[in-house]
Formats: sequence, C-alpha cells, structure tokens
Amino acid sequence: MAVTRRQFMTVSAAGLAASSVGALGFVGAGDALAAGVRPFKLERATETRNACPYCAVACGVLVYSLGDKSKNAKSSIIHVEGDPDHPVNRGTLCARGAASLGYIHSANRLKYPMHRKPGTDKFERVSWDFAMERIAKLMKEDRDKNFIAKNRDGVTVNRWLSTGFFGGSSLSNEAGYLTYKFVRSTGILGFEDQARI
Ligand code: SF4
Repeated sequence: MAVTRRQFMTVSAAGLAASSVGALGFVGAGDALAAGVRPFKLERATETRNACPYCAVACGVLVYSLGDKSKNAKSSIIHVEGDPDHPVNRGTLCARGAASLGYIHSANRLKYPMHRKPGTDKFERVSWDFAMERIAKLMKEDRDKNFIAKNRDGVTVNRWLSTGFFGGSSLSNEAGYLTYKFVRSTGILGFEDQARI
C-alpha cells in the first residue's frame, strides 16, 4: 500500500505522542521501554583509578576490568575513561588518553625487558635483573671510554655525550627529581623526560 507524505507524518506524530506518554509511565509503555534498555556495560566491572602514562600532564583515568581471579576467569580491561574526581583533568582526556584501551591490548605493546643477542634478529624476554645489570655494565663501559672532563681550553665540563637517558612522564615529583639528579651527576646531557607540555 502506498503511503502519502501526509499519512506518514500523521502516523509518525501519533507514534511519537504514544511513546512520550508511555515514557511518562502511562499504559505500561514505560516498563516496556525500560525492559528494552541494555544493562550498563560497566555495571559488573571493577573500577581502578590510575594515571595516563602518555605525557607529563598525567591525567587521572578510571580503568574498568572484568574477570575475577577467585572464579578462575581471566581479567581483562574493557574500558578506560577520564576520572571526574581527578584535579588535573576533571574527567577529560585528550585523543591519546581516550584511545588508551587500544594500546593496552596492542600486540606490539612492550611488557617485559627484551634482549637481542648478537648475530640474531630475534628478541627474547629476559629478567629485570639481567636487563639492569647489562644496562649498568654498558653504561659504565661507555662512560669510561667517552667521558669528557675538560674541554679544549682546559675548562672543567664533565660531559658524557655518547649515552642518553629517558625519564618517565608519570613519575612522581620525587622520583623525577631523583632521576634528574642521577642522570646529571653522571654527566649525561641527552636527557628526555617528556615533561614539557
Ligand atoms: S593530556 Fe592526554 S596524553 Fe597527556 S596525560 Fe592527559 S590524556 Fe594522557
């Protein structure tokens, strides 16, 4: 059956009026509407407060996960959003922070120290002890070899230019201060702490 534009508008208006009345609780339509609404997806999730690690702003985030160890279910993060109670961002996140669920589950995310032995193109997982000892050993060797105590004019400069250091944007003030002091005390000038937004 062909429906004219006027008939279509009349039917639509009548439907809208009926659903509005129903939404007010009349004729049981409100209950039917409520029954049709999907349960809130975070209702059964565990909420954990954290800080976005992407930059020095360190916005507060709420991380929602499902899974319960006591019931032998694997935990999984299902949603991340800005923390409205956090004084830095008051619930807002920039595009990077808002997309953090993607990098949490990224197959390329680095979760452990990895080591590539000479002569191979494969990285393998190593312990933190191994990684720390190796880094310390290589730093010591490089510093012993390349440290510059004085410049050409005989002025003391105490520079170490052949090694750089990454800090962390989500470090606390105190941890950042100690990191800075350590790095500068070695003579390193190439120090990136990401804290310049
Ligand atoms: S500004 Fe963006 S990247 Fe930086 S901490 Fe906040 S959400 Fe993360």
